[in-house]
Amino acid sequence: LRIAVLQERAPGENRVALTPETAKKFAALGATVAVEEGAGIGASITDEAYREAGADLGEAAAVVKDADIVLGVQAPDVAMLAGAKPGAWVAASFDPFRNGDLVAAYAKAGLEALAMEFMPRITRAQSMDVLSSQSNLAGYKAVLTAANEYGRAFPMMMTAAGTVQAAKVFVMGVGVAGLQAIATAKRLGAQVSATDVRSATKEQIQSLGAKPIFVENVAGIEGEGSGGYATEMSEEYQKAQAELVSGHIAKQDIVVTTALIPGKPAPRLISDAQIASMKPGSVIFDLAVAQGGNVEGSKPDETVVKHGVKIVGYSNTANHLAADASALFARNLYNFLSAFWDKDAGKPVLDEEIGNAVRLTQGGKVVNERLAAQ
Ligand code: NAD
Repeated sequence: LRIAVLQERAPGENRVALTPETAKKFAALGATVAVEEGAGIGASITDEAYREAGADLGEAAAVVKDADIVLGVQAPDVAMLAGAKPGAWVAASFDPFRNGDLVAAYAKAGLEALAMEFMPRITRAQSMDVLSSQSNLAGYKAVLTAANEYGRAFPMMMTAAGTVQAAKVFVMGVGVAGLQAIATAKRLGAQVSATDVRSATKEQIQSLGAKPIFVENVAGIEGEGSGGYATEMSEEYQKAQAELVSGHIAKQDIVVTTALIPGKPAPRLISDAQIASMKPGSVIFDLAVAQGGNVEGSKPDETVVKHGVKIVGYSNTANHLAADASALFARNLYNFLSAFWDKDAGKPVLDEEIGNAVRLTQGGKVVNERLAAQ
């Protein structure tokens, strides 16, 4: 069985879907591993390191030739995959809801697209979940970036020249990224509060030593749909939340927003009027900027200044920690494929629960239920 890994082609993408560690592990399963020259550079991995791990290095076309499985961080264009075996698997993130054309092209090419972001949220798949591994790093980087942009310190400091007040940090959306943002801001010494539409997060916020800010006694408070994902909230709830949050935001120095709803544009959490209510010099980091943004006026990879408030957000936040992000992404892919490795067949054989969830295309057709439902 031949596993191929290409250098990522998306502009600015520094991550890579295989590390020397996972190359060795795949080889131990009996696979041949081929890597495009230079694929690891953005993640500080040399060709030599891959070679030492037993991988073959070469140009893209040679690497892909006769591949059974292609691994990617972002799914490669179909044109890059000519030469792979008919029906080859491509395990990568596809951003399927927004990339209909790419998915259709995979079907047409007879490739089997396995979308890692469709990994079901079940206990045994936790170690395979790229959304979690990348969001965790993104939550950390969001706080560091906000701290960097902020013209004041995070921790309280008592100095001979007088006291510096602790920064007030507010995290909106307490999923994987939000929890790490809270933990990071706490470590830096900030006073941290947080909110979410899922009431289950209240306890998680408290357990990290932060203050929960929650709307009480309004219909639709649960906000939790299948797989622990958020649902869209009732109008009444949204209004009550906006009022509560407005008063709170005006007193904050840093706000980190992380709210996403799968398959939908990111919910708008902060309006221009709310930005205007903040003190000049405050910083907002919008982790959802690439999905339409939680913050009015935020722009991917730009620092927007409105009413004296800096609004920041990266189109690809985990990419700013490319080495760790690659290490975790690569392990997610290894954990996924190795969990299904059939020793006799010498290849992975997916089960129905996970296979049907992640498989987008097979036998020339788009076969995914979640995509069809959209
Ligand atoms: P996400 O990235 O989909 O969304 C980020 C957060 O924003 C969520 O907590 C969501 O509730 C919140 N949000 C949405 N709309 C909002 C609004 N209007 N206002 C405020 N907050 C809003 O979330 P996620 O990081 O993927 O995590 C969602 C849940 O799934 C978590 O409980 C997480 O622990 C769980 N999870 C489980 C597994 C697993 O079991 N394998 C894997 C990953 C995540």
